[in-house]
Amino acid sequence: MMHFIIIGAQNCHIFRILQNKNFKSFMIFFYSLFTLMKFTISLIIFIHLFSLQAFSFNTTSTKTKLIVVISYDQMRADYLERFSPIFGQGGFRKLESQGSSSPLCFYNHVSNMTCPGHAIILTGCYPSKTGIITNDFFDSPSSCFCYCVEDDKSPVIGNEKQGRSPLLMKTPALGDFIKKNFKGSKINAISLKDRAAILMAGQKPDNVVWFDWKSKGFTTSTYYKKPKWLQSINQSIPFNAYVNKSWEAEIPSPFAVEDNSKYEQTFPGGDITFPHTIPSIEDKNYAEALLSSPYGVDYLFKASKFIIEQDKLGKDNKPDLLAIGVSTTDFLGHLFGPDSREVQELYLQCDRILEDFIKYLDSTIGQDSYTIVITSDHGVGPIPEFAKNVGTMPLDAGRIDERTFVQSIDTYLNTTFKKLIVPSSWISAFEPPTLYIKDSAIYVSGISKAEIADSISAFMVRQQGISHATSTDNLIAGMILPGWDKDLVTKFRNDIFPGRTGDIMFSVKPYWVWGPKAATHGTPYDYDTHVPLIFYGAGIPKNTVIKGSTDPADILPTLCKILGISYDYIHGNPLDLTGKTSKDQQYQDIILKNPRTKKR
Ligand SMILES: [Zn+2]
Repeated sequence: MMHFIIIGAQNCHIFRILQNKNFKSFMIFFYSLFTLMKFTISLIIFIHLFSLQAFSFNTTSTKTKLIVVISYDQMRADYLERFSPIFGQGGFRKLESQGSSSPLCFYNHVSNMTCPGHAIILTGCYPSKTGIITNDFFDSPSSCFCYCVEDDKSPVIGNEKQGRSPLLMKTPALGDFIKKNFKGSKINAISLKDRAAILMAGQKPDNVVWFDWKSKGFTTSTYYKKPKWLQSINQSIPFNAYVNKSWEAEIPSPFAVEDNSKYEQTFPGGDITFPHTIPSIEDKNYAEALLSSPYGVDYLFKASKFIIEQDKLGKDNKPDLLAIGVSTTDFLGHLFGPDSREVQELYLQCDRILEDFIKYLDSTIGQDSYTIVITSDHGVGPIPEFAKNVGTMPLDAGRIDERTFVQSIDTYLNTTFKKLIVPSSWISAFEPPTLYIKDSAIYVSGISKAEIADSISAFMVRQQGISHATSTDNLIAGMILPGWDKDLVTKFRNDIFPGRTGDIMFSVKPYWVWGPKAATHGTPYDYDTHVPLIFYGAGIPKNTVIKGSTDPADILPTLCKILGISYDYIHGNPLDLTGKTSKDQQYQDIILKNPRTKKR
């Protein structure tokens, strides 16, 4: 069985932790373990409490005027419980306790990256339908190796060398279904990342803006109509307002985790410990420092409020949509990892900013007149060096350099087939979880693609840190190879889009990562697939737990059901937010069954 549940995986460390003589590491891991154990215990308690009040919830009958979908990039499901002691009453805790939440929301694919994740959230479809298979991929029809929101014909305003649109996404999104059913509904999206805003907004939205690193402000592309407020948003919410701001650590003992871990990377222009300072505007690190700090979240939510006011969102009875992509959590998460003080302190600030935003919506739209959905595009794994060096028993964790790995494949093929393709490689592109064999290598060598693919796959699984590799054709044929389980095959198949997916698909082992980022994601394991899912507000039952396992692809059909509108054939299913289920059934769903075997 290859699933690695976060809780289960952490429990594996118990023996190592108990023997650990390094007190700092002990404290960090103790905190992790403690919070994760608490997560398990409180989940069970919550199920019991829920069973007592399963039939006493209240459903708000008010129709929603505004749906706000907030994706906290790289937010893992366990953060909600783990950071709960430092959260206030009016942010995440309020949405969870007064809304309908799923403690078991899992992505059902391998390519847990930002582009595919944000495409899934509001289309209800996996990459096999959206075509957004990973962040960068080869698109056969256009013979282009593309970034997921690339479109040469839609220049970015203020950065015309870049072109951006949802051209490569092949499915409609929630906003498109809303517009089809409600004339006059406004569909908007904003993010610090272009890909998050564009993919959640869908095909024919109204205003979509994102932070542009060249023009240093919010912008859009010519694919969209130019918001009448585009200039004023950057004047009203100036990018340079955070010069010399100092981000201080605030979390008191005993909740605060260790700040000084040698495996962390540095804050942009700074170091690994608090306080972290935003430099002067002339400093080349200003933008990265700002956007990697809570000030970046503040900047984003100020801009979100500005859009709500300017576009009069939620002011009539036509439901509007605002999708918000919070990217700071991902920027900082990659540098410091999920067990860091920085990520902990960031979520404290995210919670405060969320509380302020909820109060703002209460006063401008009205309580019970808007709906909020909280989720994430993917989770994140621990820093492998950290995971490996905690305790006395070495954990199988590590990182693989992609360039060196591809070179080793070339050397192997040259030796095996006694054909020297070097200096030209056999591989045209390597984008985990897929690899493209070069057409010219097939032609020059005279060896079939299938034989090369089999040879590469066999070589890959013998390398340190690789768990699975096979040809995409084998996966399309539904072949279950030795050491593979059906669920994993399904996860890979959900990522296959003909004409875009490469010739081989593969995965690292748990706790192994590609590349130099301190912590990262993109695997089929639970630390990458398990994300938060909370519905709150108009049309949402209060204080319920959604039965069984859920999937971010269920968000679109669930919201469509609340709005009473239809949608196309998609992967997700509408959720029963009433959570009406017996205690026994809840227990069976959560504890006894594999939560990820939901039939689709
Ligand atoms: Zn992401």
